[in-house]
Amino acid sequence: PRPRTTPRVRAEIDLDALRANVRSLRARVSGAALMAVVKADGYGHGAVPCARAAKEAGAEWLGTATPEEALALRAAGLPGRILCWLWAPGGPWREAIAADVDVSVSASWSLREVTDAARAEGRPARVHLKADTGLGRNGCQPADWPDLVAAALSAQRDGLIEVVGLWSHFACADEPDHPATDAQLALFREMVGYAEAQGVRPEVRHIANSPALLTRPDTHFDLVRAGIAVYGVSPAPELGSSADLGLRPVMRLSADLVLVKEVPGGHGVSYGHHYVTPGETTLGLVPAGYADGIPRHASGTGPVLVDGKLRTVAGRIAMDQFVVDLGGDRPRTGSEAVLFGAGDQGEPTAEDWAQACGTIAYEIVTRIGVRVPRVYV
Ligand code: PLP
Repeated sequence: PRPRTTPRVRAEIDLDALRANVRSLRARVSGAALMAVVKADGYGHGAVPCARAAKEAGAEWLGTATPEEALALRAAGLPGRILCWLWAPGGPWREAIAADVDVSVSASWSLREVTDAARAEGRPARVHLKADTGLGRNGCQPADWPDLVAAALSAQRDGLIEVVGLWSHFACADEPDHPATDAQLALFREMVGYAEAQGVRPEVRHIANSPALLTRPDTHFDLVRAGIAVYGVSPAPELGSSADLGLRPVMRLSADLVLVKEVPGGHGVSYGHHYVTPGETTLGLVPAGYADGIPRHASGTGPVLVDGKLRTVAGRIAMDQFVVDLGGDRPRTGSEAVLFGAGDQGEPTAEDWAQACGTIAYEIVTRIGVRVPRVYV
């Protein structure tokens, strides 16, 4: 047989849609700059192509969690400002400084490591001081903020760092009207005000993520860090679907049916026989499983479009494959099964998959595995 030219399962990435999302988001933050967050391999879409497309569409900043992710962007030739915020002791501070990557500091240990690295590197590090205004995750507690600010200003006077950013992150911005958002905003203003009164002159103050970008213009400050919305996915059903928000889903996950066969009624399907055919029917085999990031929790609930009809995952999702009940239809082998996409051709969206298995759409797209090639269209 001739070698296949299209993979059996693929994630098509629509970079035009991503660019349209970035333009649309930028228009909503007229007073602020936009950071495209491309951590976790661009939320599963491919960090480098997505970062390039986001910059083409006007994103001024790129953001990653780990320094390794930021350094990979630089190695791929991406210019401009990049911030990375998730540091571990002994991290590649010198490499980040040498690559002109902005770094986040939440604690005295990381301030010490970055100043040591700057001294060794012979040039100052660009630092964003992170405040914990209520998320209870990374960031400096209000009680420790005066010491951190004082130590940072001292390192700045020594020429080892430049404090270019003051920032924080929301806990509940995806739940409109949650009181935590106002409380965090008030504390953020207070902590920024304190640092500025001590002499910090930040180039950017930033706290907003996608949901805050979409629902709370009063949180935009100088810079907005948008992740999920860049990929055209709604942060939460409460905020509406991607279509309601004027966003275009970027990823389309599809596979070829590798077997279509008739079975009698009463036939158990997949491990554990959690699905038994209600009568004579046809089954289609989709060559993607939980090792490809298809959540096993979607066994019996995940929606799939085959030949214009919405079907449901029949029985358990296995490591490499799952089955859909085609209800007696006989699509030819090789027919396309669409797991999710833009939603405008009758196919489910990543948001539908999230609902089908009780998780968030972030998890659906970021977990698509390395065995699934990303095809840029
Ligand atoms: N900022 C930080 C610190 C984050 O960890 C994230 C992602 O979780 C974002 C911004 C982007 O969030 P979202 O994808 O909701 O826009």
